[in-house]
Amino acid sequence: MSEAKPILWIVIPCYNEEAVLPVTAPMFLKKLEELAAAGRISEGSRILFVDDGSADATWNIIRDLAGKDERYLGIQQSRNRGHQNAVLAGLMEAKDRCDITISIDCDGQDDLNAMDEMTDAYWQGYEVVYGVRSQRKTDTWFKRVTAEGFYRLMKVLGAEVVFNHADYRLISSRVLQSFADFEEVNIFLRGLIPLVGYPSTSVYYERTERLAGKSHYPLRKMIALALNGITSLSVKPITLITGSGVAFSLLGIAAMIWAVVEAFQGKTVAGWASLVCIVCLLGGIQLISLGIIGQYIGKTYLETKHRPRYIISQRTWEPRQRVWLEDEKTIDGETQKQV
Ligand code: UDP
Ligand code: MG
Repeated sequence: MSEAKPILWIVIPCYNEEAVLPVTAPMFLKKLEELAAAGRISEGSRILFVDDGSADATWNIIRDLAGKDERYLGIQQSRNRGHQNAVLAGLMEAKDRCDITISIDCDGQDDLNAMDEMTDAYWQGYEVVYGVRSQRKTDTWFKRVTAEGFYRLMKVLGAEVVFNHADYRLISSRVLQSFADFEEVNIFLRGLIPLVGYPSTSVYYERTERLAGKSHYPLRKMIALALNGITSLSVKPITLITGSGVAFSLLGIAAMIWAVVEAFQGKTVAGWASLVCIVCLLGGIQLISLGIIGQYIGKTYLETKHRPRYIISQRTWEPRQRVWLEDEKTIDGETQKQV
């Protein structure tokens, strides 16, 4: 009897990806076949696309794929909720149906061959395997500097993340079962998964350019992601604010002593300019500090609402709700449901 192989589900978030999906979908299937042929995974493995409320033909493409090959599956979110929530929806959908998941973007930027090493690492006993970019040659200078600055800033501010790792990773369903207990709505997966624990390792790969379509992560969204990561993982900024408050108070005391000495020496008229400077400076610092505290309060507010983090409106393997309702027939005044 051959040894049981783990069932893999590849989880792929897609948002307005009609240009690239027809190109990359067959690549994912080919990789799945290769992994199964090499005995790394079970033949029952699947590819799960998560349509993140796309406005283009993405969902139709996913449905067509699912109709053609049973190894393609898809779920659709009821609206666009962002990359992190789309990945989360896919992982939660997969966790009871497979042994391991690999999340990957749908644009073909991440090297599929890294999945060989990822699954090997799983066989060796690792439950989480991070895909780490070995270099950023294909990025523009600006993207490289801002992205690497992002990781450094995260670290300085107390949010521990794997350097140059995005959302290409293998996670066992055992880890996902534990992760399901993390109920927060502000999710930053690459910071949260390390908190779950379990043995983990990294594999390195080169990231290339998108095969088609365009990026959904402009600088504005990257900054938002960085802020979300920092404020959901660490309270260090609040400590920094307190520290700077103490430092400025000490400076203020020194300035007061200085002012009193000056006054005793009869030089009291001088100092209007410096006073204005100090008021402005302190005003600015106070506003920034209040803003940061506001971020945390805002986050707490969002968490207390316990809103669902994702809502799945359709699955390719289930009949559409509307079809079922249309099948409801009224016979002699009685409603008969066709099951
Ligand atoms: N994505 C998503 N929802 C969004 C934005 C993006 O599911 O609101 C998906 C997108 O389809 C892709 C992945 O997240 O598979 C990464 O996005 P993108 O390639 O645009 O980001 P980049 O690689 O440029 O950072
Ligand atoms: Mg991309």
